[in-house]
Amino acid sequence: MADIFDVVVIGAGPGGYEAAIRAAQLGFKTACVDDWSRADGKPAPGGTCTNVGCIPSKALLQSSENFEEVGHAFAEHGIGVTGVTMDVAKMMARKAKVVAQNNDGILYLFRKNKITFFHGIGSFAGKDGDGWKISVAGGAPAEISAVNVIVATGSKPRALPGVAFDNVRVLDNDGALSIAAVPKRLGVVGAGVIGLEMGSVWRRLGAEVTMLEALPSLLPTVDTTIAKEAQKLFTKQGLVIHTGVKISDVKVGASDVAVTYADANGNVQTATFDNLIVSIGRVPFTGGLNAEAVGLKLDDRGFVTVDDDCRTNLPNVWAIGDVVRGPMLAHKAEEEGVAVAERIAGQKPHVDFNTVPWVIYTSPEIAWVGETEQQLKARGVDFRAGSFPFNANGRARAIGDTRGLVKMLADRNTDRILGVHMIGPMVSELIAEGAVAMEFGASSEDIARICHAHPTLSEAVKEAALAVDGRTLNL
Ligand SMILES: Cc1cc2nc3c(=O)[nH]c(=O)nc-3n(C[C@H](O)[C@H](O)[C@H](O)COP(=O)(O)OP(=O)(O)OC[C@H]3O[C@@H](n4cnc5c(N)ncnc54)[C@H](O)[C@@H]3O)c2cc1C
Repeated sequence: MADIFDVVVIGAGPGGYEAAIRAAQLGFKTACVDDWSRADGKPAPGGTCTNVGCIPSKALLQSSENFEEVGHAFAEHGIGVTGVTMDVAKMMARKAKVVAQNNDGILYLFRKNKITFFHGIGSFAGKDGDGWKISVAGGAPAEISAVNVIVATGSKPRALPGVAFDNVRVLDNDGALSIAAVPKRLGVVGAGVIGLEMGSVWRRLGAEVTMLEALPSLLPTVDTTIAKEAQKLFTKQGLVIHTGVKISDVKVGASDVAVTYADANGNVQTATFDNLIVSIGRVPFTGGLNAEAVGLKLDDRGFVTVDDDCRTNLPNVWAIGDVVRGPMLAHKAEEEGVAVAERIAGQKPHVDFNTVPWVIYTSPEIAWVGETEQQLKARGVDFRAGSFPFNANGRARAIGDTRGLVKMLADRNTDRILGVHMIGPMVSELIAEGAVAMEFGASSEDIARICHAHPTLSEAVKEAALAVDGRTLNL
């Protein structure tokens, strides 16, 4: 007789594993099925985020940032360093260790919360009364039953039409995070979040990086003030960014990749690279689920169709994270996972996409929450804007990184904060204040009246709030 679980989560990415933990906390008998394996075949829960996404990319960003700092920023502090070298294999080994620590951490959390973990591919095997039969295929095949199923199967990289990833010359995110030696010429197709982060890693380590972006401007979803500043700073760093390009041909050779494209003026160009990272977005992943057999509805782009509460068309089947509509972000997946577990328990949680923060971990970092100036204008909202540059912030000067600014947008009539946009040092951490403020419906005056420690980068947030009312103190 098959084991019967109250909740079975398929996928142990950030959405799935947190859904499982919350379900277990709420007293449900919970299982989680995930097929990701380490090189030695052992389970590697954590999904894209832990294995080939957020965590390894941040590990490499830190290593490459340290390398660049030693070479370029230490001298100003009076620190003389000669003979700096970069051991890529060691950097990769450190990255692998960081990933493994996170895999192990999740396995520990499963044990701690008494969640049964199945390593293998989970698929629908038909109905079981009001619930569902789930088959697990893999090293230890199993048949289990679930009263509720949470589909959290994530996403996979989108390839250029007709150009398959080989992860030798044409790299997806996995390949981009595992290049064995710094390429001399690196091409990046798609200057979005992942492209910019990966391009930054390899540029810092010495690659000549050329980014080919189809859209007419860099980072069109980012507030234009911030996007313009980013373009200026990234170009100064040596990233070559071509926007408005149309790729017509990619020839993969034994030792290089030739990309032919029309530039923004319509002139045909060919660029040759040692490696080409393709980061043109991600597509939902439902392969292996046997979704068709049970009639799980997908939309025309392959996302599992869900309502605002993550309910699918099938009774007691929910779906969360990258496999459903909404921002493809780990923390969005986590919030949805927790919310679904609570809904199964009869609670009424709410996930507001407008207060989901976004971060790009370039140097300087870019972060934002809420609406951009261009979105507010398009909606005809009457707003006030205040901004404050880090070059007027004492802590930023002391750290030696005064690039960027904080910009706050607030409703002109109510003063309610509508968006907070940042580019600068550690803004991935500073953006939390913007998210908290927006969740609590704060006004810019609220932030302006809150005591911020001195000297901190967070004072720039307070000053931007003061600037909304035209009364910065330090500018
Ligand atoms: C290079 C890169 C950097 C990123 N950086 C960030 C960042 O800094 N911050 C951020 O918020 N987001 C980042 N992301 C996005 C983030 O990784 C995703 O939004 C997040 O992983 C989505 O979580 P998920 O739980 O929906 O799915 P996933 O993390 O994709 O996990 C899905 C899991 O389900 C498993 N699975 C699929 N089908 C089955 C099946 N049938 N049976 C069993 N298991 C199955 C998969 O193998 C996988 O383990 C990054 C992505 C990439 C590629």
